[in-house]
Amino acid sequence: MRRLIACLFTLCLTVAATAAEPQVSVVHAGKLVDVVNGKVLKDQMIVITGDRITEVKPWGKVPEGAEVTDWSDMTVLPGLMDMHTHLADAGQSASVLAPLELTAAESVLQGVEHARVTLMAGFTTVRDVGVWRAFNDVALRDAINKGIIIGPRMAVVGAYVTVPGGAGDITGQAFDVEIPRDLRFGVVRSPEEVRERVRTLIQHGATFIKTLATGAVLTSGTHVGAQELSEDELRAAVEEAANYNVYVTSHAHGAAGIKAAVRAGVRSIEHGSLIDDEAIEMMAKHGTWLVADIYNGDYIDEVGRADGWGDEILAKNEATTERQREGFRKAHAAGVNIAYGTDSGVYPHGDNGKQFVYMVRYGMSEMEAIRSATLSGAELLGWEADVGSIDSGKFADMVAVKGDPLKDISVLEHVDAVMKGGRIVKPAVK
Ligand SMILES: [Zn+2]
Repeated sequence: MRRLIACLFTLCLTVAATAAEPQVSVVHAGKLVDVVNGKVLKDQMIVITGDRITEVKPWGKVPEGAEVTDWSDMTVLPGLMDMHTHLADAGQSASVLAPLELTAAESVLQGVEHARVTLMAGFTTVRDVGVWRAFNDVALRDAINKGIIIGPRMAVVGAYVTVPGGAGDITGQAFDVEIPRDLRFGVVRSPEEVRERVRTLIQHGATFIKTLATGAVLTSGTHVGAQELSEDELRAAVEEAANYNVYVTSHAHGAAGIKAAVRAGVRSIEHGSLIDDEAIEMMAKHGTWLVADIYNGDYIDEVGRADGWGDEILAKNEATTERQREGFRKAHAAGVNIAYGTDSGVYPHGDNGKQFVYMVRYGMSEMEAIRSATLSGAELLGWEADVGSIDSGKFADMVAVKGDPLKDISVLEHVDAVMKGGRIVKPAVK
C-alpha cells in the first residue's frame, strides 16, 4: 500500500513537470473589427493563452514574458469563414467526368494544397459542402486537426445525398458504365435509404448532411429548376440527422426545391438562384440560412467559357447568375439570415475573398458582409462558442489587413497576415 501511494505521488510529480504552462502572447491591434457590436475599436490588446483568446482590452502593459505580434498599423478581423467550399476534390474543369480521372489518393493530395491556400487567404474555418470520393473530406479534416497538414477548421459531409443521376451523382458517362461505390456513396432511392445513408455518414465522421434538392449548374443533364429529392426524402434526412443532433443543408436552385427543403426543416439553402418572393418569406419566417455563391457566375462566364466548359453549363450559368444576385438582394432586404459561401473549387481555391465586393454591390454594408463571413458563419455552424469573433474564450483565429475593409471591402481579397489557434500561419510583411 505504501509503495502504491509512493508511486501515485511520483506520477503526480511527473505529470506536473511535463504539463507546461500554456504560452501567453498578445496581439497589438491598431484597429479591431468588433463584429458582435458592429464597431471598430482602436489600439487594442488581444491576450492569447495557448490557442484561445483570454482577454481583449485597450492597449496597455504587456503581461510579463508574453510575445507581442505587432499589428498596430493594421486592421484586425476575426478569421474569415467560407460556408460553401469543396476542398477535397480536384476542382471544376471542362470535363464533367473529371472526378473519374483521379484516384481517391490523388484527389485528397490536391485537397492538401487547397486547404493550405484557403488558410493563407485568411479563411480559418470552412463548411465543406461535398466531395466526389466519399470521406476524402473527413480524411482532410482529420489530418488538419491532428496537425499533420495545415488548413482551416472544417465542417464536412462525407458524401452528397442525391437521387440517381441527380446533381450530386456522377453524370455524363454512357448508361452502362459502372461507377465505383465511393463515387456514388450518397445516391439514394427512398426515404428509408436516406435514413440509412445519413446514419452511415454521421457514424463515419460527417459534421452535417448535404442534400441535393434540385438539379445543378455544373452537373451534366440536370435541370436547375427541377426538384430532385422529394420533400419526404428531405424530411427523412432532417429527422434522421436530428437524432444525432446534426443538421441538414440543401443545394437548391429552383423555387419548388427551396420551398420543399424549407418545409422539411433544413438549416440552410445553398445557391438559391431562382428563389421567389414566397420562398424568401418562408426562409425569413423559419430562420433558414441562405448561402448564395454570387461571385463565381462571372468566373464561369469568363474562364469557363475560355476553357470550353460546354454549352449546357454556360447556358445554365447565364440563366442563374443575375437572377441569383437579385434574389440575394431581395432576401437580404427581407431579413433572411445570410452567411458567406463561395463554392470554391468552381473557381481557384484561395480566391474566396473575391465575393465580398459582390455582397456589398448587392445590398450589404461592409460591416454586414464581414459579419456574414465571421459571426454568421459561426452561428450557421453552431460553433459560436469557438469562432466567429475576437472575444475571450474563442480560438485565436484572426486576420490583419493594411487597408480599411470598412471603406474598401476588396482589401479582404488579399489579407496581409493570418493567425489560427494563436499560431501565425502567414506573417505580415513589414
Ligand atoms: Zn458547391
